[in-house]
Amino acid sequence: MAEVRKREELPEDVGSDDCLASYTHIYSPDLLRDQVAFITGGGSGIGLRIAEIFMRHGCDTVIASRNLEKLKEAALKLSSASGRRCLPLPIDVRQPASIMAAVDETLREFGHLDILINNAAGNFLCPASALSFNAFKTVLEIDTMGTFNTSKVVYEKWFKDHGGNIVNISATLAYRGQALQVHAGSAKAANDAMTKHLAVEWGPSGVRVNAVAPGPISGTEGFRRLGGSGAEAAGSFQSIPLQRAGNKTEMAHCTLFLASRASSYMTGAVLVADGGAWLTSPNDVSALLGYWSPEQRKDK
Ligand code: NAP
Repeated sequence: MAEVRKREELPEDVGSDDCLASYTHIYSPDLLRDQVAFITGGGSGIGLRIAEIFMRHGCDTVIASRNLEKLKEAALKLSSASGRRCLPLPIDVRQPASIMAAVDETLREFGHLDILINNAAGNFLCPASALSFNAFKTVLEIDTMGTFNTSKVVYEKWFKDHGGNIVNISATLAYRGQALQVHAGSAKAANDAMTKHLAVEWGPSGVRVNAVAPGPISGTEGFRRLGGSGAEAAGSFQSIPLQRAGNKTEMAHCTLFLASRASSYMTGAVLVADGGAWLTSPNDVSALLGYWSPEQRKDK
């Protein structure tokens, strides 16, 4: 008889930027009751699922990024799936004034702010030799400076006097110098350092600062741009210890853990949630060049 391997039951997910058709709570449904979370890049991908899972745990949310039309559409879906409030606000994380206006609006609308998720980012595959100076700078500006800008504004306007939780969405790219990823790897490595610096400085104000580092996550723009579908079809995920991509709901659960009292004694930590991928996945320039196409090189 064939050996049957025990597989953990995975949380529900859908591959598009839609809400879940059904959801089974793992944590208490009241875990974030009446809290407010500000989620950058919350209108798509992992950020949207984080918003949904938080709202299904009693939280109201602000989803903030550049494309207001996309955010409005996402906010309607999120509210109708969860029964909680979702406020879409336009920001560019590179522009501190736009963040200040959005945080002021958040405080006017909700009266408090409890959680910040720094999720906004831009990424694409590109060999360093083909990467323009401007492309490298743009990724650092969005991923790293954007995380600092948003954290500082939220801290000054609310967390300094009331405490709060920050979770940065990171990546494992820098751990082994992932090929074709010098821009995003450098940016996220800086963010991991920032996670520790801010945890140290802001801990006495009751602010915890942690990070989640996802591996390849299906149903995301990142997955599509970074060759995830091709890699999956080619069987490349067999080299990952858990032999599969992760899903967005799994990342939302890790983020919920760090943003909630479930992790009350954690700060300055990076929670790697990648199925063990960074330990074993290929890091071969010539193999990865197969997934690179110059058209993907958008300076998002
Ligand atoms: P995504 O859907 O493309 O999300 C990125 C979000 O960032 C978008 O909603 C975008 O919205 C927003 N954004 C981009 N530039 C911005 C700016 N200048 N100001 C404000 N918002 C901005 O990507 P994702 O794949 O879900 O990735 C989410 C996070 O997970 C990122 O931090 C990424 O690095 C990390 N991650 C993803 C994977 C993966 O497999 N997907 C793996 C490791 C890490 P607008 O266009 O409306 O601005």
